[in-house]
Amino acid sequence: MTDADDTVKCLSAKEIKALVKPEFAANPDIFYPVKTLGNLGFTRACCPKCGENFWRHSDKKVTCGDSNCEG
Ligand SMILES: [Zn+2]
Repeated sequence: MTDADDTVKCLSAKEIKALVKPEFAANPDIFYPVKTLGNLGFTRACCPKCGENFWRHSDKKVTCGDSNCEG
């Protein structure tokens, strides 16, 4: 259900937008420790529903995690 492991699988678009500015989309390396996230198993993806970029911890994760995009 909601254990600690589950909460780190994905940063939602809202979380991303709260942390960074629009330039992030063009310069992710500046705003995020991309290599560190990559080493942790995160990959950057674009939500097919809302078009927002997000980080995911599993390739099975397709959408950004927003309730409007899930299911
Ligand atoms: Zn989405």
